[in-house]
Amino acid sequence: MLATERTGSTPRVALPVVRVAGGSSLTVAWLGVGPMFAGVHWLGRALMCTGENCEACAVQSPRLMAYLPVAFLPDGGAARTALWEITDAAWQQAAGLARMEGITLELGSLLMGERKRERSPLRVTPLGTVAKRQLPMATRWGLTSAVATLFRLPAPTANEETAAWAARAKPAAVRLLADALNAV
Ligand SMILES: [Zn+2]
Repeated sequence: MLATERTGSTPRVALPVVRVAGGSSLTVAWLGVGPMFAGVHWLGRALMCTGENCEACAVQSPRLMAYLPVAFLPDGGAARTALWEITDAAWQQAAGLARMEGITLELGSLLMGERKRERSPLRVTPLGTVAKRQLPMATRWGLTSAVATLFRLPAPTANEETAAWAARAKPAAVRLLADALNAV
């Protein structure tokens, strides 16, 4: 998927991260992969919670976030791929709305994210679908790699499953959290 850079022999995916700012909205097409969920601690920057026995959890509750590969579809332009960071609550709400309206969330589903005011929570609404042929391809591996890049963690190896990657990356995540906690 997309922007891969080679570091040694393992390609690493780096995607621009998109968040919905307070008082704004944006519409993207989901690439049908994920979401990948992660607990996030904000300690000067975003760090991945390591779950059980996480040191940072002693001082701060993690925020559960969802990461989705999405495409922006500018008029007449090529689709651009990004990693969309939304709250788990917003994803669950979108999935609930889709169920109620009989919409299947899949490759090409248009999702509108909106925060009405500066401090408003994010709402995500399914709006329909776009033609799949317009869309770049995404893979679970690419999503895992992009999330690894975002949190400055080791990249998954070729074909590595997300759970195996998470177990292997955990010591690095523990070190990053310890460094950030020491710096506070
Ligand atoms: Zn934690």
